[in-house]
Amino acid sequence: MSTRVDPNLLIDLQDYGAVGAEKCFNCGTCTAMCPLTSDEHPFPRNMIRLAQVGAKEQLLASTDPWLCYYCGDCASTCPKEAEPGETMMALRRWLTAQYDPTGLSAKLYTSETAVIKTIVRIGLIVLVLFIGYHALTGFHNIVTNSVQLNTFAPVMLVWALVLLHGSMLFYRMIAGVFKMSRHVLAPVTMGNKVPLRIYLETLPVYITAFATQRRWRDCHGDDEEKHDDGRWFKHFLLVTGYVTMLVLILGFLWWFQTDAFYPLWHPQRWLGYYATIVLIYTSSEILIGRWRKTEQLHRFSQPTDWLFPTFILTGAVTGIFVHIFRYAGWAWPTYIIYVIHVMAMVAMLDTEVGVGKWAHLFYRPLAMYLEAIKAKVREEQLVPDFAPTGTD
Ligand code: SF4
Ligand code: SF4
Repeated sequence: MSTRVDPNLLIDLQDYGAVGAEKCFNCGTCTAMCPLTSDEHPFPRNMIRLAQVGAKEQLLASTDPWLCYYCGDCASTCPKEAEPGETMMALRRWLTAQYDPTGLSAKLYTSETAVIKTIVRIGLIVLVLFIGYHALTGFHNIVTNSVQLNTFAPVMLVWALVLLHGSMLFYRMIAGVFKMSRHVLAPVTMGNKVPLRIYLETLPVYITAFATQRRWRDCHGDDEEKHDDGRWFKHFLLVTGYVTMLVLILGFLWWFQTDAFYPLWHPQRWLGYYATIVLIYTSSEILIGRWRKTEQLHRFSQPTDWLFPTFILTGAVTGIFVHIFRYAGWAWPTYIIYVIHVMAMVAMLDTEVGVGKWAHLFYRPLAMYLEAIKAKVREEQLVPDFAPTGTD
């Protein structure tokens, strides 16, 4: 592995939200307190040390920032108030930017102006697409004496655009996944190919971590004697809410966006209601927590920390209004709020998938998956002279 150092790394990390790493004198108290650390992964102390000396390559090859769930135990015991949990958070943002092939992530994380410009630009593109479509069709598709949403925005056309947009975002995400994998596996495989069998044998690690995020349950939170199941459960609820919505929109939009009026027991209604209620509750809870700053993980907020829950809340509230106005038979309010809903959702996906906070959803389980692959490579001695464990 390269031993080149980047003398500006610590300063760069400040742009990503590191607020006290320069004060750390490496006593290790934080690592001793961390419920998720291990001999192989003695974070956060090792990560702060690498950041201080500018060891960029070692940081890129490490999964440790993704193994931290920001329970905050380390920060409360640091004698220098170096905010180690916040440095771990800043490293996750920085790593996301390093994996992103488009450069958008770095801009969003380091510039508020870039965040605003990106959102406005995407919103305007969506608006122009709607206006352009209706201008081309002579505005005949706007029925105003009743609500005809699927005439105003033909569902198969919207669905085709959703799938096209989704494919582009998926490519961006996968490019990041490959880049992270290359960095993390290189020190162990040393140019050798990992057999496909090992990727497949360890795949359950990824699936389990993605579906449950169960490592989070080992965090202690406010009570050191207990596990912090409350926060884990709220996060789990949030994931079920937006995964339900993503599945409905990506796979079943032709069924979900309808002009029909279904009875209350119909799955189209209660799936939508479930996702909406969960998303409004969890996103409001996150926003209130960030505003109050009572929990360690909410004490410091970057603009991008506000962005995801704000978009989720906006999407859920505008979605509910589309539903109410449609059932009330108000044509123009339905169409206008539908356009705002689509503008917000496209802007959210463009500023989150693979480049923002939402990237954590993929990178955390990927970190555990790559660690399982590394362990298997070592166990089977596929590379005789592999690198030592850990990144300390
Ligand atoms: S962050 Fe604080 S507790 Fe951790 S090693 Fe540095 S000074 Fe010690
Ligand atoms: S925030 Fe929690 S999980 Fe992360 S390093 Fe600190 S104690 Fe460990």
